[in-house]
Amino acid sequence: MSIPLVDLAAQHAAVADEVAAGWAQVLATTAFVGGPQVAAFEAEYARYAGVEHCVGVGNGTDALEFALRALGVGPGDECVVPANTFIATAEAVARAGATPVLVDCDEDTALIDVAAAADAVTARTRAVLPVDLYGQVAPIEKLRAALPAEVAIVEDGAQSQGATRHGQTAGSFGDIAATSFYPGKNLGAYGDGGAVTTARADLAERVRLLGAHGSPRKYEHPVLGFNSRLDTLQAVVLSAKLRRLDGWNAARRAAAARYDALLADVAGVRTPVVAEGNVPVWHLYVIRVAERDTVLKALHAAGIGAGIHYPTPVHRTGAFAGLGHGEGAFPVSERVAGEILSLPLFPEITEAQQERVVSALADAVFA
Ligand SMILES: *Cc1c(COP(=O)(O)O)cnc(C)c1O
Repeated sequence: MSIPLVDLAAQHAAVADEVAAGWAQVLATTAFVGGPQVAAFEAEYARYAGVEHCVGVGNGTDALEFALRALGVGPGDECVVPANTFIATAEAVARAGATPVLVDCDEDTALIDVAAAADAVTARTRAVLPVDLYGQVAPIEKLRAALPAEVAIVEDGAQSQGATRHGQTAGSFGDIAATSFYPGKNLGAYGDGGAVTTARADLAERVRLLGAHGSPRKYEHPVLGFNSRLDTLQAVVLSAKLRRLDGWNAARRAAAARYDALLADVAGVRTPVVAEGNVPVWHLYVIRVAERDTVLKALHAAGIGAGIHYPTPVHRTGAFAGLGHGEGAFPVSERVAGEILSLPLFPEITEAQQERVVSALADAVFA
């Protein structure tokens, strides 16, 4: 029996009836775009994140781009982005017309290096985008203290729904935060989806305008916008899942603790480091090993769906080759990228499955 990296079927089983009933209601009313379920979910998610405003959009990348545009970021501006993130963080900056300025990460947590981010600030810097990588919140209060007041912070919370840092919930840090409801995220839709969360009414209003053809009222278009909205059908799924998210995140934490214990005696494996003050939601459980590619191959041969998040730092992708960074530009990110390995982790993973993963891993590391 193989063990997948993530198993979305079990979560669907838990909400299937509720989703079917909710979808039947949408089908009966045919309010596929902008139905009342969208506003209901936005209110629920704002409350969950502990902020006043949530605006649903088409996906997480658009959420980041609109957050930046709402702050007035555009051509000629620079935005600081960690080199080790999913490409969408840098993509959103480029799509807003600005230049991503990459910085390295912390050796232990792989979160943005606060000192490097502060050093990268120039007269053109408009924003820094800390990423809550793997499900733990970046040290955003330290970043705030290290940055000039006029530099905005946009939290990339795509991987951290429900995580807390010093008791504060992900999605409420910085000036504005973006998240993704891509199916594999902790709060995943049945297709694409995303949202911004913010305490600032002006930014929320601007994001809503951008996602709806720049239109505050039908057939009025004071600004050039986009078409990027959260579907009504997705909002139904997200509301049903949000009610269970804390339970699922707790199950992920229990599974992560079990991996920590099982791996304590396995030489050659570095388990994930949680920064002080953080309660992570373990979007991914990422270990570090030497000879990673060999280990990964052995795990796959044993039927274990391990993965790499992410194999190529942003500056080494073709998309951002134009930034002109060679190999060695961000040594920590590059070293981490060569050693990381994501183990199967989902709320319903069993102890027996985790024991099999660790036993296959131990064999692979010692081989
Ligand atoms: C998933 C993800 C995104 C983008 O989300 P999409 O919904 O796929 O556009 C952005 N940043 C990070 C860190 C992510 O993991």
